[in-house]
Amino acid sequence: MKKIQMVDLQSQYQQIKETVDTSIQEVLNSSAYINGPLVKEFQKDLEDYLDVKHVIPCANGTDALQIAMMGLGLKQGDEVITADFTFAATVEVIALLKLTPVLVDVEADTFNIDIEALKKAITPKTKAIVPVHLFGQVANMDAVLEIAAAHNLFVIEDNAQAIGADYTFKDGSQKKAGTIGNVGTTSFFPSKNLGCYGDGGAIFTNDDDLAHTIRGIVNHGMYERYYHDVVGVNSRLDSVQAAVLKAKLPKLDSYCDARRNAACFYNKAFANNPNIIIPTVKSNKTENCNSICDVCDCHVYHQYTLQITNGKRDELHKHLLAEDIPNAIYYPVALHSQKAYQDERYNEEDFPVTNSLIKTVISLPMHTELDEEQLTFITETIINFLN
Ligand SMILES: *Cc1c(COP(=O)(O)O)cnc(C)c1O
Repeated sequence: MKKIQMVDLQSQYQQIKETVDTSIQEVLNSSAYINGPLVKEFQKDLEDYLDVKHVIPCANGTDALQIAMMGLGLKQGDEVITADFTFAATVEVIALLKLTPVLVDVEADTFNIDIEALKKAITPKTKAIVPVHLFGQVANMDAVLEIAAAHNLFVIEDNAQAIGADYTFKDGSQKKAGTIGNVGTTSFFPSKNLGCYGDGGAIFTNDDDLAHTIRGIVNHGMYERYYHDVVGVNSRLDSVQAAVLKAKLPKLDSYCDARRNAACFYNKAFANNPNIIIPTVKSNKTENCNSICDVCDCHVYHQYTLQITNGKRDELHKHLLAEDIPNAIYYPVALHSQKAYQDERYNEEDFPVTNSLIKTVISLPMHTELDEEQLTFITETIINFLN
């Protein structure tokens, strides 16, 4: 059996080596390392794929969030609501910009921002909501947009984990994740669903004025060379990374399918296990989306995350490592409990779901190259251990 990896970037590279190498060689031949033609070409390809007017590439997904918030003109003291159960980058940039992060609990089934908790957290100072499409599933955007419209709030989608996912609205219309709010952001970190071979990120918007503002911010606040109209940053996607991404973007849909196939295998194996809760997929599209193997385009399985309900999560984690099955706890600590983000306004009673998830979740190997032999070994090892 091929050694199991949490994310198998090497096997994936071997499948696309020729295209990627040719694309990188193009950059080397041109010496246009920064803002070369491939950056523009990838930008255009991604705009077409996402059906969004503007993609602004930048250096990483954390910068993308920061720049989006700067572009919207958020000011010190403005409250920004986001989920308690996610990677720290989201709350980090809110705090760095001296905005006030307001963390709210998530839904027990999808792990995405809880709509009732979100409503309760709104105050006259609230200016923006940052739904995170966690583990590859789009948050309840019908409800988020409704609340944002009612309270005149910006919506910034943190789409670092769900690029390629489709969201179906209640009325049946569809949009790509990251193109639904005022602005969306993503990361091209190597292990993300569309990863480059270094750092990279991008910002998406259909708003022409905001796109213009953001294009200046990523380039030191310059709209005309050496005229600095606003305080900006230096955040670029380099041409070598754009070359990798341009070569990989045409594969993204098949990569999403490969991930869903692996998820389907896992779901079938674990569906009736009394100690395991498999991921819940919620969609307006079709009732089929709740069954274990139908293709639900609202979930692209950045992570495949189980809940272990018999209290043996930590033992399982160690047992799998001993069996050479990589696995991870995303996330072991609620953001509201992190030293850097403590706030006396938070009450433990307000985070029952996150406080429980941090003790039960475990993420299994998930990537585009998992084979049946590996999946069988992983699922059998887990089921035998929990029996
Ligand atoms: C990865 C990630 C980020 C940050 O992206 P970087 O490119 O590593 O800066 C932000 N938010 C979420 C939800 C992520 O998963």
